[in-house]
Amino acid sequence: MKYLVFFLVLINISGYCDNHDNHHHEDHDHHHEDETKKKSLKAHQHGIGILNIAQQNNTIIFEFELPGYDVVGFEYKARKKEDVKKVKQAINTLSEYNNMFVINDEAKCKEKSNNSDIIIEGNHTEFRSKYILTCSNISNITKIKINYFETFSNSKKLNVNIVSKKIAKTYKLFSDNNIIKVKNYF
Ligand SMILES: [Zn+2]
Repeated sequence: MKYLVFFLVLINISGYCDNHDNHHHEDHDHHHEDETKKKSLKAHQHGIGILNIAQQNNTIIFEFELPGYDVVGFEYKARKKEDVKKVKQAINTLSEYNNMFVINDEAKCKEKSNNSDIIIEGNHTEFRSKYILTCSNISNITKIKINYFETFSNSKKLNVNIVSKKIAKTYKLFSDNNIIKVKNYF
């Protein structure tokens, strides 16, 4: 029985590592290519956004995937002036990372780059935004506050995945539960 347990643990660890590498670390460039090539939507559920947070040494990367409905209130292709304006404004709002999240000051994080875009496919749209920050005290990140819910009032829920050097965790966040405590994660 002991052997069996040991064997199962080994399988789990290797499974975890594969996953970990492919999605977040060594294979980073490859992953990027895949993403640009794809540029298509996975099935999303209106009301539920995704946030992936990944650490690479003293860099922290935030990537949001948000149903158009949650950001601008519609997912048809914007044609009316009013709708086109809403999409433009949303992308402007997304390009300011403090509208989406705040990291505690002690970590001394500074933005290196960001980009935001809308992907349109059939009857669905998704906003994607990515922020790369470098932190001179990355191990002092203790708290990440999500401002997304306040910024976009149609938003309801965010599924968060964090992969750091030390941990891999998931969270479900809501407007009344919008702080991730991450002491000793980075
Ligand atoms: Zn949709």
